[in-house]
Amino acid sequence: MKAAVIFENGDLECIKFEEVPSPVPGPGEILLDVHAAALNHLDIWVRRGRPGVELPVPHILGSDAAGVVLEAGEGVDHVRPGDAVLINPGLSCGRCEFCRRGEQSECISFGIVGMARPGTFAERVVAPAMNVFAKPSHLSMTEAAALPLAYVTAWRMLMSRARLRPGETVLIHGIGGGVALAGLQLARLAGARVVVTSSSDDKLLRAREFGADDCVNYATNPCLSEAIRDLTGGRGVDIVLDTVGAATWSENFKAVRRGGRIVHCGVTTGAETTVNISQLYWNHLVVMGSTMGSDDEFRQMLAAVSASRMRPVVDSIYPLNRVCEATLRMESGEQFGKIVLVPGGVPDALNKPRAESGFRGHNFEAVQEAGSVEAE
Ligand SMILES: [Zn+2]
Repeated sequence: MKAAVIFENGDLECIKFEEVPSPVPGPGEILLDVHAAALNHLDIWVRRGRPGVELPVPHILGSDAAGVVLEAGEGVDHVRPGDAVLINPGLSCGRCEFCRRGEQSECISFGIVGMARPGTFAERVVAPAMNVFAKPSHLSMTEAAALPLAYVTAWRMLMSRARLRPGETVLIHGIGGGVALAGLQLARLAGARVVVTSSSDDKLLRAREFGADDCVNYATNPCLSEAIRDLTGGRGVDIVLDTVGAATWSENFKAVRRGGRIVHCGVTTGAETTVNISQLYWNHLVVMGSTMGSDDEFRQMLAAVSASRMRPVVDSIYPLNRVCEATLRMESGEQFGKIVLVPGGVPDALNKPRAESGFRGHNFEAVQEAGSVEAE
């Protein structure tokens, strides 16, 4: 089968589109015919490598996938060949005290598909059957592939970690990223007022279509936290959902209300910063980290998406062999929503350029339209 693999850590050029052996499911595993696989920033971190972490090569990238079950291994009885499913990429041991208590993302040996085992940027992938969930019936395969990592991450950050309540105000930085947009959609669903930031007026305008109440352009605004305070009558927001890291750290401390909660899940602008401890205790701030989610949070997220018929935001769809081009789009930060790869080729309807932005990928509206058609 064909797959996007790396033979060493490095830049974009080290991603190769190669023929690799098709995987075989073992006991408790399934073989998935991948119809769509979405990109995440994690793919970049895995490709670049981390000190002291050696991947067996060639390594197949990719964490998110939706498709059809081809084979079920020994002992698998809750999924059958022919089922339309998506994969929860969180891997846990199932035996440690944290797994037993239902906190799989706190497992002592927690890992992620595409990092701790071969990934989804392939025509087929083997996954543990316990990680397989039925595809929400109102979603196309491309939309379903956009859900798992980003939406379970945002769900846990808002619902479990920050304990969002209706009527609260949530600040979300860098709208356009997968987790940020998932956070916007889920926070609105939970009855929150949402303030979003971006350096692009185009992205802020589109965020309004997805329910953003207020928008701040941090590139043209001299002081981000002051703008946020103005929007909240000097009070500050209740919750900050931050995927950005170092660049927004100190502004978050000033933009949040007394007793507010700040939840971090990413470091696209850097991981190191300094902490003003006086601000932290004087203002009763709670700063939290969060990664992915538990099996139950994944189930809750899917149930909420199905019940509300929410559609994840898909920025663009590329054929799998154009994985480098797709990754370049994510690395440049131009995307608004998830970038999805399809091993089977992109339908003609999606190959219209988006004239107004100059982007020569796939038409956003056509993606949404074709997604709806495909799901029916
Ligand atoms: Zn465990």
